[in-house]
Amino acid sequence: MSKFSEYNFANQKALIRVDFNVPVDKKTFEIKDDTRMKAAIPTIKKILNDGGSVILMSHLGRPKEGPEEKSSLRHLVKHLSELLDGKAIQFADDCIGEGAKQKASALKPGDVLLLENLRFYKEEEKGDEAFAEKLSKIGDVYVNDAFGTAHRAHASTAVIAKFFPKEKKMFGLLMESEIKAAEKVLKSAEKPFVAIIGGAKVSDKILILENLLERATDIIIGGGMAYTFFKAEGGNIGSSLCEDDRIETAKEIMDKAAEKNSCIHLPSDSIIADKFAADASVSSSMSTNIPDGWMGLDIGTMACDMFIKVIHNAKTILWNGPMGVFEMENFQHGTKAIAKAVAEATEKGAYSLVGGGDSVAAVNQFGFADKVSYVSTGGGAMLEFFEGKELPGIAAINK
Ligand code: AMP
Repeated sequence: MSKFSEYNFANQKALIRVDFNVPVDKKTFEIKDDTRMKAAIPTIKKILNDGGSVILMSHLGRPKEGPEEKSSLRHLVKHLSELLDGKAIQFADDCIGEGAKQKASALKPGDVLLLENLRFYKEEEKGDEAFAEKLSKIGDVYVNDAFGTAHRAHASTAVIAKFFPKEKKMFGLLMESEIKAAEKVLKSAEKPFVAIIGGAKVSDKILILENLLERATDIIIGGGMAYTFFKAEGGNIGSSLCEDDRIETAKEIMDKAAEKNSCIHLPSDSIIADKFAADASVSSSMSTNIPDGWMGLDIGTMACDMFIKVIHNAKTILWNGPMGVFEMENFQHGTKAIAKAVAEATEKGAYSLVGGGDSVAAVNQFGFADKVSYVSTGGGAMLEFFEGKELPGIAAINK
């Protein structure tokens, strides 16, 4: 593979796989959050500045049966133009075929072409080779800048790479920085390395927990998933979230932690509610002694103090998943306090990486996004990276 920053794109047509899967209003087609589009702009600009042209391909939404209006990438054209300082954006209403090919071959240095949604073809998600080969004919160089879909072995994210010679395939700037941040934490974390894992379900986080047991000094577990651990210890968790079929797994994780000298911290107390609702009655209790009919929806004040101490002592921090139901004001204190502690530790010199959909939403919502070292754009991809899996989108370029 080539190194993006060292490659001269003059007179090259760069086919970039971006992740423009942004939330779009179903009726007005307005873009509700353009973070993913913004993240691809530095890569696009470098190619244009070199004197190359850019062909952008992405998926949007989950179209099931071919083309549909609400998932058309045409809705992104105007905003993309604004993000590129008013540059005219050409649009091809197909991602393969004669029309797309002709538009691509007519591109001049400095031009930008956006292709229609890749997932209007079922072949994209199936990783179909013939489809990937057709896509590859649209550009001279392949750039993968879609970290958000790097864990998928789809035609445009992985399979396509084999149709380009080594020197004509590479990661874009976003992919490079995501990989660098993740590798820094996974492979060369300065200790103490504190992993903060939260969210709803143990079942979603088993593999990441197991992999982190090998690496992290401390693992803080918060959110709904903590209660399965308390039940495993014989605690009374009321009607808190619990995965009964994961109680054995929770026990195994605790046993392994003891063997590996990794310290697991569970929230000793909880903010509890009499129903899962913003207007529920609220109280607090020890997490192993929650009254019947009540559920833990946030970590309590003692747990907060304890977790903050551990975080302040860290040299490397990984955070995936909120500490409570942060979408409701009554249950956001824990997540907010943890976000603040991660920001403070970062200011003191720790390296902090926040990855995974809801913790990213939380640092954004509470205004700490620019106070941590790196905020990942890839939820599922980041999770799989930290589970220790090889991501197909990365492997295809590295080969
Ligand atoms: P995940 O996608 O697994 O990271 O889970 C994120 C979701 O977990 C968020 O929507 C939170 O509201 C939810 N969550 C966090 N803590 C709890 C809790 N104690 N009980 C129920 N849901 C929770």
